[in-house]
Amino acid sequence: NRYWTLAEGPVPNWPQPDTFVMREGAVSSPEQGQALTRTIYVSLDPYQWGYKRRRVEPNGAPCHARTVSQVVESRMPGFEAGDLVFNTNGWAEYGLMGEGIWRPDYMVPRKLDPSIGRISLAVGVLGMLGLTAYAGMNLMAAPQAGETVVVSAASGGVGQIAGQLAKLKGARVVGITGRRAKCRFVTEELGFDACVSHLSPRLPDELRAACPGGVDVYFENVGGPVFEAVLPLFNPGARMTICGLIAHYGDAEGRDARAALMELGRPIFEARDVAVKTLFVGDFARDHHDEMLAYVAPLVAAGRLKYREDIRQGFEALPAAFAEMLRGDNFGKMLVQLTPD
Ligand code: NDP
Repeated sequence: NRYWTLAEGPVPNWPQPDTFVMREGAVSSPEQGQALTRTIYVSLDPYQWGYKRRRVEPNGAPCHARTVSQVVESRMPGFEAGDLVFNTNGWAEYGLMGEGIWRPDYMVPRKLDPSIGRISLAVGVLGMLGLTAYAGMNLMAAPQAGETVVVSAASGGVGQIAGQLAKLKGARVVGITGRRAKCRFVTEELGFDACVSHLSPRLPDELRAACPGGVDVYFENVGGPVFEAVLPLFNPGARMTICGLIAHYGDAEGRDARAALMELGRPIFEARDVAVKTLFVGDFARDHHDEMLAYVAPLVAAGRLKYREDIRQGFEALPAAFAEMLRGDNFGKMLVQLTPD
């Protein structure tokens, strides 16, 4: 069983080529209440870097990640050999799930129904990312027809869903992305009304021009200069969901990016009565996952909600793919496929 783990020593601000090391161990046998599974897809997500910097995972353990896997041997009630599952094998070829196996508490293993969509989508639009977008957009920001909604990291795993959900509510949706190709994707393929690039030195002006009626909802994935470009455009009574602040995930230790953003935004938030809410998807996992699936899965099946994945191949690809995703060299939701599905 090969796996990647965090190298010993200080964790850098952003991942470097020597930040992760490959290890090899025996494939474990499941005890009562556990199942052994083989990893098919590893989901690479920005929060995993926070886990490294805060050393959330047990020392020497495989890097945590959500995965799509197949059960090899089961002593876990409700799971049989051959079942396809959502679980958290991490950056590893095999993993145990069930009793006594460490995982974030809201990431409960579950059996997948391949008839509702490609199995890789269980870590994307039909899984935690769908729930993130649904919770942050539909449940928290609740855009109305005709309102202007801005989504940053708009072509990424969460952003592409969040923007399309707002379109489905009749809003006018403006994306912010990096490369122009990503902008073209969200407007031409996903139906966003406009898109601007944060790589342009004229971002504030271009965003203002793209939002002539101001901004009613901002789905924040980024922070930094992108937030600063949105801030002056908020309309009275606007809503902002802070989903993530990826531009700050390499900030010096101890800096509270959210607190700094709130401080910077306060005069405008107060003067214009902007409601700012912070999203944590784990808060919605138990009560809203099935509701999200019931809403989103038929839209995906009907082609009314499109979803782009960036799937890299092979176990060796994991560390580089992760670093690329953090700096925007992914195009769509980043996954690594370890075995054919
Ligand atoms: P993405 O697929 O969107 O990948 C990350 C993207 O962030 C990159 O492709 C890049 O897009 C953009 N980016 C990176 N650095 C910068 C920067 N300095 N300035 C502007 N854009 C940058 O990842 P996800 O969809 O998985 O995650 C999106 C956000 O959602 C993250 O902030 C993440 O932490 C958050 N999240 C929060 C959850 C919650 O519970 N609150 C749950 C899941 C995700 P581009 O090339 O367009 O710049």
